[in-house]
Amino acid sequence: MQAWKCYVGDINPLRRVQVPIPTPNPEQVLLKVLAMGVCHTDCTLLAMKQPIHGMGADFILGHEGVGEIVQLGSEVSPTDFSIGDRVGVHLTAGCHRETCLECTRGLHNLCKSEGGHYGVGRDGLFAEYIAIHHRAAFHIPANLDNAHAAVAADAVVTAYHAVKTSAAVQPDQTIVIYGLGGLGLNALQTAQHLGVKQILVVDKRQSSTEAAIALGVPRENAFCTSDASTPTLQESITSRNLAIDTCIDFAGHADTVTSAQMVLRPGGTLVLVGLLAETVPLLPLVSVVSGLTIKGSYNGSGQAYRECLDLMAKGVLTPEVQVGSVEDLPDVLQRLDDGDIQGRMVLMPDWRAVHVGERESGGVGGEV
Ligand SMILES: [Zn+2]
Ligand SMILES: [Zn+2]
Repeated sequence: MQAWKCYVGDINPLRRVQVPIPTPNPEQVLLKVLAMGVCHTDCTLLAMKQPIHGMGADFILGHEGVGEIVQLGSEVSPTDFSIGDRVGVHLTAGCHRETCLECTRGLHNLCKSEGGHYGVGRDGLFAEYIAIHHRAAFHIPANLDNAHAAVAADAVVTAYHAVKTSAAVQPDQTIVIYGLGGLGLNALQTAQHLGVKQILVVDKRQSSTEAAIALGVPRENAFCTSDASTPTLQESITSRNLAIDTCIDFAGHADTVTSAQMVLRPGGTLVLVGLLAETVPLLPLVSVVSGLTIKGSYNGSGQAYRECLDLMAKGVLTPEVQVGSVEDLPDVLQRLDDGDIQGRMVLMPDWRAVHVGERESGGVGGEV
């Protein structure tokens, strides 16, 4: 089958390859991939110098998607799954071993015992087929199309978990959401669904703040950092005497992390989700003296994934997606890294037939 592989630290880290279709072990199901979401973390993985957290050094990229079951492992219950079922891939289902520090504490989304998560250290979804543990397979509601369902596994559930569980927002709170890319607009819809009183949003792109306004954010609460003609977030908070309970940062940039520490009320909470910068400033004179809580938030539980799929089926959460071709992955990643993609890009598995001996063009190398 055809696939896009990541070779961490290699001078040519993204390669189009031809590899065998995986054989599912007794606890796995084999999926024919139907749609694949592209995440900025894919850019981060390709830019890494060496693997971290015990992840593999080379693996098939892609950690969001849906597929159709084409084969069941011998121990997978036929009452739970059937050939032809459409399922999404929960990338952090955990190992569930009694010896696992994370899984025994209910932190399955932080378990890294199996070489990482699908598409993040172990083979993922930018391929024609993927074998996954049956615990990671979640049925997709019938009224959700493949493109929208594909992004539930990360763009929706990561945002949902960050807002609902890590930030534990309350209706009477005032919160700030930084970064309105693939995740931030889903976080906004989650906060609205949970009844948060006042939501402020920040992005450098006018089109993103306009998208938030279209979702119901008052114009005075939407801040475009590249627009010098309007008050900044900090100026507005000061002049309106707002107390910011929680900041959720989907960018993870030096500017956003610094800003969040500056605008939070004493005792406030900063939840970090975005991974744009390798290091960001920590301001002890602010964060210590104001007693801030700073925490990371990563993906979400299987329960959260199911809740997201249900809320998407009901139209409560509607991720913004654009559809493209899996053939264009290198170009899509470049545009994503340049900040040129609004919402989430989902690739369809329209693989071009590759003949033996042919090499891919486009500067991405190839082992076809
Ligand atoms: Zn991601
Ligand atoms: Zn585990």
